[in-house]
Amino acid sequence: MTESQLPKTQVVIIGSGIGGCIAALALAPYYSVTLIDKDAEPQNKVGESLAPAAIRILKQLNLQHLLSDPRHIVSQGTLSYWGSDEPTLIDNLKNPDGFGWHLDRAYFEKQLREACYTANIHTIWPAQLVDSTKTSHGWKVTYQHNAHAHQLISDIVIDASGRHCVFARQQGIARHQFDKLMSIGFTANLNITKNVAVISHTDDSWWYSAPLHQNDLNAGIYQQKRIFSWYAEPHIIKAAQIHTPQVLLQRAQHVTGLGALISQLDHSSATLHPMLAANSSKLESCSGNAWFAIGDSAISFDPLSSQGMFNAMASAMQLSELLINNGLTHTDNRHIYQQQVDKIWQSYLAHRALYYKMVS
Ligand SMILES: Cc1cc2nc3c(=O)[nH]c(=O)nc-3n(C[C@H](O)[C@H](O)[C@H](O)COP(=O)(O)OP(=O)(O)OC[C@H]3O[C@@H](n4cnc5c(N)ncnc54)[C@H](O)[C@@H]3O)c2cc1C
Repeated sequence: MTESQLPKTQVVIIGSGIGGCIAALALAPYYSVTLIDKDAEPQNKVGESLAPAAIRILKQLNLQHLLSDPRHIVSQGTLSYWGSDEPTLIDNLKNPDGFGWHLDRAYFEKQLREACYTANIHTIWPAQLVDSTKTSHGWKVTYQHNAHAHQLISDIVIDASGRHCVFARQQGIARHQFDKLMSIGFTANLNITKNVAVISHTDDSWWYSAPLHQNDLNAGIYQQKRIFSWYAEPHIIKAAQIHTPQVLLQRAQHVTGLGALISQLDHSSATLHPMLAANSSKLESCSGNAWFAIGDSAISFDPLSSQGMFNAMASAMQLSELLINNGLTHTDNRHIYQQQVDKIWQSYLAHRALYYKMVS
């Protein structure tokens, strides 16, 4: 098939996580959008604390009702033992945007996918990006779907594939890692309900715990399911030889601020989650000739910030606004967008440095 005969779209978005769906929903009233994802359904991802400011973006898209679903736990704030044995409550009541949320993450992404269906966005999943070439007709994008290679032509590509940044990597764009932070964690059932996150620093690492939605909790026995995550450099985690959840659980019970939660926990319900990269990283270029990277694909944050999902939403909106106001192929778009991402990155690095200085 010649390029002029291939199916045409104005925008193709690679990845239907939070960033990809928000960009698709913002652009769909103005352009034809095709959204592809390698997974037939949203997977269980780690990361559930959604910053209160996210409600502003959902309101812009008339999607604020998504967070009213009881599967998303309203977060009263964070109890922080960062650099102190005494807790500080970072109270969402004082936040001008109101409460935050501990999302049922897979369900939230499912809700966003459903909003994309309702908005008549052309969605293709499971579909894995294979290759992209710039032609005189636009980007020729090849993807694998139902065991066959398919192609389409698009005016622009948005890489929303998360830390994998599959499109940008195929274009040979380097990704810089600013640290080696890794995470390992476990989930378990508790006999108490505490709708706050807990952050605690130790000598060479830090811990995080937050409530999770759980469908099948037997309310008569358990009140809440929580995640407990340990963040450290890889050599520290590897040396701890964590092959069972119990090893991690024993470590957690001595951490300031976690002991009371651990004492209410059913040890036999603990499930270990694999080690994951949690480092700060950035693409060398977050935009190029008719392509842009958003969310984690462009810049990924230390989970200490709890800003990853908000940044995915905010960068999707920022880019969409530019593409709607200037048109898809305006030559200034890539430079303006790059400057916007660089500004966010510099501000993030400054905040991150301040936080770690408090415990150094
Ligand atoms: C341990 C840990 C804890 C975290 N905790 C929090 C938290 O509490 N709060 C918070 O706000 N953030 C947190 N984050 C960060 C947050 O999860 C990310 O910032 C967020 O997922 C970014 O969303 P995204 O849409 O950019 O990318 P992703 O959520 O990674 O979505 C990318 C999508 O692209 C698809 N994809 C990938 N490759 C391909 C391909 N080849 N072809 C087609 N599709 C593809 C994937 O299937 C996926 O659906 C945490 C991260 C980590 C590692």
